[in-house]
Amino acid sequence: MPAFSIGVDLGGTNLRIAAVSTEGQLLEKISVASNLSLSPDHVVAQMCDDIRHLGAKNRDSAEFVGVGVGVPGIVDVEAGVMRKAANLPGWENYPARAQIERRLRGCALFENEPRVILENDARAAGLGEQWIGAARGVPHLAMLTLGTGIGGCIILNGRIWRGLNGLAGEFGHLTVEPDGIPCGCGNRGCSERYASASALVRMAREAIAGGAAPALAQVASSQPEFGAKEIYQLVLQNDEPSRRIFCSFGRYLGILLADLVNILNLEMFVIGGGVASAWNAFAPKMFEELGTRSIIYAASARQHGLHGDERQRAASQGKTIITRAVLGGDAGLYGAARLAQITG
Ligand SMILES: [Zn+2]
Repeated sequence: MPAFSIGVDLGGTNLRIAAVSTEGQLLEKISVASNLSLSPDHVVAQMCDDIRHLGAKNRDSAEFVGVGVGVPGIVDVEAGVMRKAANLPGWENYPARAQIERRLRGCALFENEPRVILENDARAAGLGEQWIGAARGVPHLAMLTLGTGIGGCIILNGRIWRGLNGLAGEFGHLTVEPDGIPCGCGNRGCSERYASASALVRMAREAIAGGAAPALAQVASSQPEFGAKEIYQLVLQNDEPSRRIFCSFGRYLGILLADLVNILNLEMFVIGGGVASAWNAFAPKMFEELGTRSIIYAASARQHGLHGDERQRAASQGKTIITRAVLGGDAGLYGAARLAQITG
C-alpha cells in the first residue's frame, strides 16, 4: 500500500497544509491566510482540523506515516518549541508540538499517540529541495533561503545537520561587514542585513534619501507594498540605482557563499526564497565575488545554469555547484512532509 504524510508550513503570511506521498507526489493542499492576531491555540486548532480533514480523505488509499511542521524561527527540535519567533508573535516558548499532538489525540489517523515533528522552515526547505528539487540525489548540500532574513540548512548524508544545540546553519548571522549595521541577534554586519529582501529595501531607501534615485522614489511613494519585487522590476527597466543595489546584494551574498564553500566544501549550494527569482540581477556579481574569495570554488570549474542530470554529474566530478532552488514557496511544505517520513 502506498504511504503519505502531512506537511505543514506555518508562515507569517500563509498557513499551508499538504498531504504528500512518499514518492513526493502532492495529493492535496490547503492554504489559508495566517491570522497572526489569533492566539497560537487558535492557529493550532485550525491546523489540526485541516490535518484531520486531509488525513481522512487520503487514508483509505494510502498508509499515513506522520506530520511534520515547518515554522519560521529558531526551533528546539527536541522540545518541539520555538525559542525565537520574530515573525510569529506569541509563539516564543509556546509548546507548539505538544499542543498539536494533544489536539490530534484520538484522531483515527494515529494508532497510538500522535507524533509530530517541529522544524525550522528553512531547514525543511533544504530537505524538500534535496528530496524532489534542485538537489535531488545530492547527499551533501547547503541551502540558503533569501527572504526577510536569510535561512540556512546543512544536509549531510541526506539528513539535516543540526549541531550541538540544534542551531547549525544560521548563515544569516555570519559577519560580512565587521563594523556594519547592527542585527537583532546582537552582532553587527550580519549577512542578512546585506543580502536579504529587507536589505534590498534598506538600500533602496538609502538611495532615495540620497536624492539620486528618482525612479525608486516614485515607486516607493506610490506603492504601499514597496519591496524586493518592485526594486527588481526597476532593474528590468534598466534603472541604474536599482541595478547597483542588486550588485551590492550579489557581492555580499558572494562573500557569504565564499565562506560557506571554504568551510564546508559541499557538492551543492542551493539558493532559494522569494529573492532568488531576481537571480539574473544578482548572480553575476555573486559568482564574481565567489570566484575571487573562495580558493575552493576557483579551483573547481565554475558551473552555471546546469540542469537535472548535468548538475549531478558535475557534483560527482568534484565541482562545486551553486544553483537556484526549483520548488519555490513549496520547498518548506514538501520538506516538512518528508521529515515526517524519514524521522523514525
Ligand atoms: Zn545577526
